[in-house]
Amino acid sequence: MPERGNADQRFLLLYGSQKGLAQSLSQDIQEQAEQRGLYAERHCLSRTSRAFELAHERAPVVIVVSTTGDGEPPDTATKFVRSIQRKGLPPNHFCHLRYTLLALGDSNYTNFCNCGRTIDQHLAKLGGHRFYPTGHCDDAVGVEEIAEPWIEGLWEVLKKELGGRQWTQANENTMTTGRDPVVRSEGCIGMVKESEFTVTNTDAVSNMSSTCHIKGGGKTAPVLMEADKTLEAFIERSVRPDKAAVGTCEALEPSPSQKPKDAASFSQGEEHGSMSSGDDKLITVLSMSCRNLSITSSSETKSHSSPANSQPPSAWTRPAPHLSNVALNVPSLPASFLEIDIQRNTHFDDFRVESMVDLLPKASSSIHWIPVVSAKRLTQLDAIKTTMELWLDVSKTSLNLSPGDSVGLICPNNSEEVSYLLQRLELEAVADCLLTVHLTNANTRKGVQIPVHILSQCSLRMLFTHILEIRAVPKKAFLRSLAEHAEDPTERHRLLELCSRQGAADYLQHIRKSLVCLADLLHSFPTLCPPVALLLEHLPCLQARSYSISSSPLQHHGHVRILFNIVEFPTSVYRASPRRGVCTGWLTELVGLYVRGDVTLTSSMDDATAVASKVPQVPLYARPSTSFHLPEDRSRPVIMVGPGTGLAPFLGFLQHRKWQQDEEAEPAGEMWLFYGCRHCKQDYLYRDELEAHMASGVLTRLLVAFSRDNVHPSGAAAGRPTRYVQDNLRIYSKDVVRMLLQQRGYFYICGEARNMAPSVHETLVEIVVQEQSGTKLEAMRTLATMKKEGRYLQDIWT
Ligand code: FAD
Repeated sequence: MPERGNADQRFLLLYGSQKGLAQSLSQDIQEQAEQRGLYAERHCLSRTSRAFELAHERAPVVIVVSTTGDGEPPDTATKFVRSIQRKGLPPNHFCHLRYTLLALGDSNYTNFCNCGRTIDQHLAKLGGHRFYPTGHCDDAVGVEEIAEPWIEGLWEVLKKELGGRQWTQANENTMTTGRDPVVRSEGCIGMVKESEFTVTNTDAVSNMSSTCHIKGGGKTAPVLMEADKTLEAFIERSVRPDKAAVGTCEALEPSPSQKPKDAASFSQGEEHGSMSSGDDKLITVLSMSCRNLSITSSSETKSHSSPANSQPPSAWTRPAPHLSNVALNVPSLPASFLEIDIQRNTHFDDFRVESMVDLLPKASSSIHWIPVVSAKRLTQLDAIKTTMELWLDVSKTSLNLSPGDSVGLICPNNSEEVSYLLQRLELEAVADCLLTVHLTNANTRKGVQIPVHILSQCSLRMLFTHILEIRAVPKKAFLRSLAEHAEDPTERHRLLELCSRQGAADYLQHIRKSLVCLADLLHSFPTLCPPVALLLEHLPCLQARSYSISSSPLQHHGHVRILFNIVEFPTSVYRASPRRGVCTGWLTELVGLYVRGDVTLTSSMDDATAVASKVPQVPLYARPSTSFHLPEDRSRPVIMVGPGTGLAPFLGFLQHRKWQQDEEAEPAGEMWLFYGCRHCKQDYLYRDELEAHMASGVLTRLLVAFSRDNVHPSGAAAGRPTRYVQDNLRIYSKDVVRMLLQQRGYFYICGEARNMAPSVHETLVEIVVQEQSGTKLEAMRTLATMKKEGRYLQDIWT
């Protein structure tokens, strides 16, 4: 074990995590360092100036940091980021510092990896030397796609930074393969070619001035380099990550048949088509070097039936022909570190949602149980999506919410799914017994702890119902561990394929894009039976879901309105039965709308308190927005773009302004709303309310685009089709530029992050180019400035 004090072996490893992913990656790095005889001194970024001090750090520094919200640092990194942004730091403040950075983000959001970029930019600006290119991991395509090759490539470069003295030939081999010899032999299946193990990034990383290529998954994936520091490139990336910049996507680009429709066709929240299943031909015979297992064609495989699954397995669960003669590089098997004790004689069902409060992101209040006083379906029965409205009675609380804020709803997992898991894992008999979790005595993983979300006292049913995100898409490390618990060698082999570097495309198609979860795996791999402790090690914490408030407390004191689409996942080769989103499914059941239809729980809102005890209640907390609010200066023009349920906060804005207009008679600037839905007659939300705001003069312009109706009058009048909000923005480009640039107005976007928000941004760039006769770069710079000034605001979600 390397000693802390040995300067040849020590490096500083810092992490800033919101949901635990950056922390877990830093743990992986620490473990891999240890296997290589290095000492990674690991700290959370929140411990700045207590546990570590970059201003005096001479050892190489590795930082793993995520980005949260719309480009903000995780809560734990805020202080650190502020500390390096302080004005007055000399330009050579970090000239002694050698660092590298693994940034985590989601390219569905505009400020992709913004926290990592900000840290990187400031360290470099203050003289820091980046010794290894920054990795930008994109959660939209799979963090591991960049993280894995980035970590593998790190060791070679780190060795040079540390002086290379402790490195033996044996270590060299391990380093280039990224696995220790034992794991390597376990990890190789089929025909092993030595060259397959070598990650050939050393040449590239020594060339720090251009894009670095890391070999992975049989393809060459460019890793975004930060050497290009021009303002133009920075603005371009900070406003919207282009596909080239999010270099990792390139290697993962699906085949044309898998590609979603273009951005415009999704711009109003339309759904992706279902994925096709893989090739179902029999695999050829393979010899497997690990554990003397031999894999035979699937027709020869012993049949394992499970009470939960008597159907034949789907094609995607069988070994893939295109991987049959390929040596597989699989992640090293994570050492297990948790054990559970179940006290069979002690029943335990004392779960208190309040115990979750410390785990909630951005909570500004305690958790309150709130009566749902009214529930209504807003869309017609023949609409493609079902949109629901709930009124919540917050009058008994001190919740201080204004339009633009959201509430975090703490939802349980679906009880049938929980029962299925318990039954399938043969745990029903002990599901409600007291359970305690502790670290294994034989734990070899340094620095691991019991995950903070695992309660010290709980039961299995509680864990599966309230604590674990059982719908989480399994990461590759999880699949790797699960493979050890599939009795059937064919199933085991397939799980290894899915987590292998060579099986990256299969993982993307059959796991990530298909939103496969633990229950689906258990259903599709009948002999898979992992121990509970493994699930606790890998399943993340169940997240609260946010909903923008769509009312104003000025008009509806003590009540809050929210709207949501019921998320529906149809049956597919991956899912044995249809299911709903965790939270929207639960809410729908809770308010008695399992069968589509309107239910009004109270006849009048004023009766709310009286009937509160009889109506369903939901635990929630306030999730205030730091910026998504109406401008303080009421005279400024406001443009709101909110298709679908993106309308929610704008309804609140309009109610707020209406009340101000009636009560305070202060003149307000123009307010334009760009709204969109599929059909005028089926899913045009709050038409009456919006038209009333037009009539009262609060809303000065209402522009609605219908993506599935043939012709809309406004489009016909303008001689162009108006299918999407972007089309209307283009039609009114002169007004848009007048309000935003000449009158310094505010631009708000709310709704779907994956396609709509980036597409609206691109449209705005086009408009500014066209109306100002400038270049694209100038337009992007203009919008970046608006962002900086807090006049370009987004409230978007995937
Ligand atoms: P989950 O079980 O979490 O499933 C959703 C997951 O499935 C996501 O990963 C999603 O990407 C994926 N998914 C869903 N549908 C599809 C599909 N058709 N194809 C492929 N993948 C799919 N939602 C609202 O409806 N109204 C709001 O006002 C609102 N406000 C929000 C405000 C904020 C600040 C944030 C962050 C989110 C907001 N959301 C809002 C989203 C909301 O929080 C939930 O994410 C959403 O309701 C789904 O929750 P769920 O638990 O039902 O679905």
